[in-house]
Amino acid sequence: MAIRYIPTIGLEVHVQLKTRSKMFCGCPVEYGAEPNAHTCPVCLGYPGALPVMNETALRMTALTGLMLNCKVAEICKFDRKNYFYPDMPKNYQISQYDQPICDKGGVPLHELAYPKDAQKTITNPNKIVKLVRIHLEEDVAKSAHFEASSGIDFNRAGTPLMEIVSEPDLDSPEEAFAFLTALQQILVYGGVSDADMEKGQMRCDCNVSVRPEGTTELGTKIEIKNMNSISGVRRALAYEIERQTEFVAKGGSLAQETRRWDDGLGQTTLMRIKESAHDYRYFPEPDLLPVDTRVFMDEVRSQRPELPAEKKARFTEVYGITDYDASVLSSDRALADYFEAAAATAPKAKTLANWISNDLLSALGAANEPLSACKIGASQLAGLLGIIESGVINARQGKEVFLEMFATGKDAAVIVEEKGLKQESDSGAIEALCAQCIEANPKAVEEFRAGKAASINFLKGQVMKLSQGKANPALVGEILVRLLSA
Ligand SMILES: [Zn+2]
Repeated sequence: MAIRYIPTIGLEVHVQLKTRSKMFCGCPVEYGAEPNAHTCPVCLGYPGALPVMNETALRMTALTGLMLNCKVAEICKFDRKNYFYPDMPKNYQISQYDQPICDKGGVPLHELAYPKDAQKTITNPNKIVKLVRIHLEEDVAKSAHFEASSGIDFNRAGTPLMEIVSEPDLDSPEEAFAFLTALQQILVYGGVSDADMEKGQMRCDCNVSVRPEGTTELGTKIEIKNMNSISGVRRALAYEIERQTEFVAKGGSLAQETRRWDDGLGQTTLMRIKESAHDYRYFPEPDLLPVDTRVFMDEVRSQRPELPAEKKARFTEVYGITDYDASVLSSDRALADYFEAAAATAPKAKTLANWISNDLLSALGAANEPLSACKIGASQLAGLLGIIESGVINARQGKEVFLEMFATGKDAAVIVEEKGLKQESDSGAIEALCAQCIEANPKAVEEFRAGKAASINFLKGQVMKLSQGKANPALVGEILVRLLSA
């Protein structure tokens, strides 16, 4: 029988913090500026230039630690990581080695964080992926290669970079996808980063190995560098697991190497073989004193936001909405805020949740627009639901009004007035339509009278059609039953 191979995955995630200035100098952090517009002797690495710590970056990293249940160290320090590379002209990077700001912790995975096609087959529900640590360092410059020359842009050099290192605790590409999605949500919730992988605000290195089922020793670790999309991470890992499994199953022995993912080709290619671990000759940064985080932790604690999982639990309890709707609404902080703002005046939170997670999200998706660009304000959506609830228009007409609101931003009441959309609730008029339908559909009438209750839905549909969708459906149902039982 063929041996089954088990993958083990660990991720290292680099996150750009949303500070206004760089980590050790006052240069602004601004993307898309002219190359080398934001530089000074410190971030250019001039000899003798002295770094000054950005306290906001420290607080943001500590806040991330709180959100991810890490132990935030009372004292942390910075070290020099020595290496030679053109994007790092002072030949060392200021990072944290043996006393990082955050230790341990974890990222809780939830169903909607998984890829859509994998949400029904989750192997470890409610898994919390363990973290090793979170540390703070400075980003390096960006090099660009032209036809006959290369250039370096130092705008990014020295910007605050938070590195989140997971344990080799992930069992599948789908879990890695869920990990990054859930982590991204939490970072955005805390306002520490926009964490957009496509914009390079969150970057990820993946370590992956395979071993025969039943054994405990991990296989040879292969690193995939610089991933820039969450779905790319999933594809790269799936490819790499298959490649390694095939190779090892044939009796091959893998070398420790670093590979690059080519999304177009759908494969990883060799970058370099790791002959030995780098010796970065870390030593304490002599220009920076150790940091006592106790000075600001009380304030950071007070800034910890309610996290997605906590929000979800509160939404189901306070508003009585379904687990699914609560997951959808809490997955994005802006969406959650929108829901709560609308719920303040909407007649029924449950109906509101439904409208947001179905109608609103699909309209936004179809228009390829973010919620921030949505023309329907939270109170306007609540207004529409109020008009439907009061019976002025029916739910079907409500959908029509909704689409008009989405396109124009007008209030529901204005559209109802303009379009003459009032629901027909005159029982005399509806009764006439019902009688007409009963007359025209003897077969359905016979079936209903013979006990087939569902036949009434057909008749109801016919009456609605006859009224051009304007009849009050509840009233139609009542009158039909009365006439048929007579
Ligand atoms: Zn600078």
